[in-house]
Amino acid sequence: MPSTADIVIVGGGVVGSSVAYHLREAGCRGRIVVIERDDTYARASSNLAMGGIRQQFTLEANVRMVQYSVDFYRDLDRRAVTDTFHRVNFHQRGYLFLADAACAARLTRRYDAMRSVGAHVEHISSDEIRRRLPDASLDDIEFGVFGPEDGYANPKAVLRAMRKIAEDSGAEYIRGDVRTIHRSNNRLTGVSFGTESIDTPVVVNAAGPFAGQLAGLAGVALPVFPVRQQLFRCDLPRRWEYRFPMVIDPSGLHWRHDDPRVPGQPDRIVLAKTNHDETRGENFTCDDARWPAEFYPSLVRRMPSFAGLTPAEGWAGLYEMTPDHNPIIGTHPDADGLFLANGFSGHGLMMAPATGKAIADLITVGTSRTIDVRDFAFDRFRTGTLLDDDATL
Ligand SMILES: Cc1cc2nc3c(=O)[nH]c(=O)nc-3n(C[C@H](O)[C@H](O)[C@H](O)COP(=O)(O)OP(=O)(O)OC[C@H]3O[C@@H](n4cnc5c(N)ncnc54)[C@H](O)[C@@H]3O)c2cc1C
Repeated sequence: MPSTADIVIVGGGVVGSSVAYHLREAGCRGRIVVIERDDTYARASSNLAMGGIRQQFTLEANVRMVQYSVDFYRDLDRRAVTDTFHRVNFHQRGYLFLADAACAARLTRRYDAMRSVGAHVEHISSDEIRRRLPDASLDDIEFGVFGPEDGYANPKAVLRAMRKIAEDSGAEYIRGDVRTIHRSNNRLTGVSFGTESIDTPVVVNAAGPFAGQLAGLAGVALPVFPVRQQLFRCDLPRRWEYRFPMVIDPSGLHWRHDDPRVPGQPDRIVLAKTNHDETRGENFTCDDARWPAEFYPSLVRRMPSFAGLTPAEGWAGLYEMTPDHNPIIGTHPDADGLFLANGFSGHGLMMAPATGKAIADLITVGTSRTIDVRDFAFDRFRTGTLLDDDATL
């Protein structure tokens, strides 16, 4: 006999958990079930992310999303009531884009666009950059674009805290791999996993990079495809004298501080450099050859004092890309009862709180009152009105 639920969320990563939590906050007292196939989250993007949180976007909707999230993350350690080791530690140390001659014009246009849609961002001189990065080599840098409210958090702790506040609020987590989504004509009626089924009128797709596959189970198309992104972590040779913001080098290399979580651990940095030629697919292999070929030369060019660093670890996870690199949030026109919280294209950790709020409002009152997510509707792929945000690449 199938059981019943008012709402089933497939995927218990940061996005699914945020949806569950915000549904309760919105007053939804019915049965909310989150189905997650892997409680270790070994392949979940939330577990493998870098942790960057920035409001530096040129599309107003993206800026508003992250501004909501910034407030949420500031308060998450208090809400989750967690121990010291598992603290989210949202450090608002800023996000610093460095402009050299080749990208100065683009970053200036981007800065103007970001300001015009209300992003809190500053145009800073080389001297101001030097105060934040005293041992950086800045001979080719013309200026910086700095988001003082931005920063980074520990992604594993964010994932844990989000799930905890969702469970504390009464959402039920079930381990299962959803293999069937049931429909009656155009309307969803339930899901099956293993030998179990749950009847429900509402299914939220929060399957991260696997969202396209999940939509396929409901018989609808969703343009979300997985693309590998790779990170390295390095121990620094000593306690560093200052904390890094997220630094984005003109070469595309970016890095942030990774503070010790227990006494005696070294200071570390986490680094990324997007490979724009990466082929689509579920590839979790860490390509170690990228360190000496691409990461290290860019790092030491900018930070000569990092000469000799080698990675303590490297790993890969999946970005959940859409054709215009912007999220898909809302309903699906071909399946009543299917809600989409997908396609964050590498920005889902920073957008998870706002997405949870928006989806909860859409389900409970039919419109997203706090955060306007109409730009992110699925229909744009049918009408050809794709979004253009210069800072989502
Ligand atoms: C290397 C890397 C670095 C990143 N850095 C950043 C960053 O700095 N800042 C940022 O904002 N974002 C970053 N991202 C992106 C961010 O991690 C994702 O956008 C975000 O985690 C998406 O969350 P999610 O909950 O939708 O997906 P996930 O965390 O992937 O969770 C989806 C869950 O759905 C489950 N699932 C899927 N299908 C099924 C099914 N059929 N049945 C049951 N369960 C299912 C999966 O097991 C998984 O746990 C990064 C991503 C990667 C890979």
